[in-house]
Amino acid sequence: MNESENGHRSGPEAWDTVDFDGQPAARESDIRRAPPSVRQLLRRYGFKPRKKLGQNFLVEEDILDRIADVADLVPGDQVLEVGPGLGTLTMRLAQRAGHVLAVELDSDLARIVGETTADYPNVTVANEDILHFAVCAHFGPRAFKLVGNLPYYVTSPILRYFLENPCPPSLLVLMLQREVAERILAGPGEMSLLAVSVQLYAEPRLVQLVDAGAFFPPPKVDSAVVRLDLLPRPAVDVNSERFFSVVAAGFSQPRKQLHNTLSQRFWMQPGQASELLHVVGIDPKRRAQTLSLEEWAELTRVFERAGVLKTGEAGGGGEPSAG
Ligand code: SAM
Repeated sequence: MNESENGHRSGPEAWDTVDFDGQPAARESDIRRAPPSVRQLLRRYGFKPRKKLGQNFLVEEDILDRIADVADLVPGDQVLEVGPGLGTLTMRLAQRAGHVLAVELDSDLARIVGETTADYPNVTVANEDILHFAVCAHFGPRAFKLVGNLPYYVTSPILRYFLENPCPPSLLVLMLQREVAERILAGPGEMSLLAVSVQLYAEPRLVQLVDAGAFFPPPKVDSAVVRLDLLPRPAVDVNSERFFSVVAAGFSQPRKQLHNTLSQRFWMQPGQASELLHVVGIDPKRRAQTLSLEEWAELTRVFERAGVLKTGEAGGGGEPSAG
């Protein structure tokens, strides 16, 4: 992975990893309860799902079809699939797209999916970590769509890696933990750092909520399919590093009023944060979750003009660091 490939433009705070509260690894007694199609595959290959890799296989045929349909695939499309698992979604993608590159971290599953998709010459399996996949080296200027039933333990890093990538996908259709999907889709009043981070680059929409029972083994959380259409340019015209330094500072203590959080994080004189917030027309007593992306952008510009960020960034203002 070269540096530009991994050259994230915002800080790690924007993409805190979402812990996956999963279930223990599947036992033989669990496997007996799996739907026949999955049970056969697991038995044939002697494979037991691994909790630590988020291996909850989607077994509802309708939802598998819906994910593939909602990606609006046409025969010329290039698809990058995250974590193909046993290949049930991969086959549906291959029936609709020009080519599917399926990236699977688990070497046993990579071998298995190679076999289950053997009848599809337009499927290539790569046994690697999606977070180390060299997107630009592979796709160059060619458009591609990212599709996957994500391993939930790496949801935020995956979103960050692809939305901030110098060669981003044109569209993402992803199965996420429901609570994460709701955070991504939130509007002013319920914003979070994750919502701001995603909505800067993409327009998210909910496709469908999914019960835990649609998976084998069922996870302890409900899920949701979301579609993210990449914006032609970021939603607001602002230096993204500075933008995220202000946004991350604002969300560092979300229960506090903004003038308190910002003056502390950027070492401002008493009253200065309130004054600058007033310049933008933001009541200093508001909290971070109420601001729109445009308000954050305007606040960033005002902070830049006031020279607050020059020292603030170095002084704990949430300056994003690459990587
Ligand atoms: N696509 C399959 C399905 O829908 O049934 C499997 C989805 S399962 C939730 C997540 C898959 O991602 C697993 O196959 C797991 O091994 C794989 N995985 C986990 N971490 C990964 C990573 N860092 N890079 C690529 N694949 C990963």
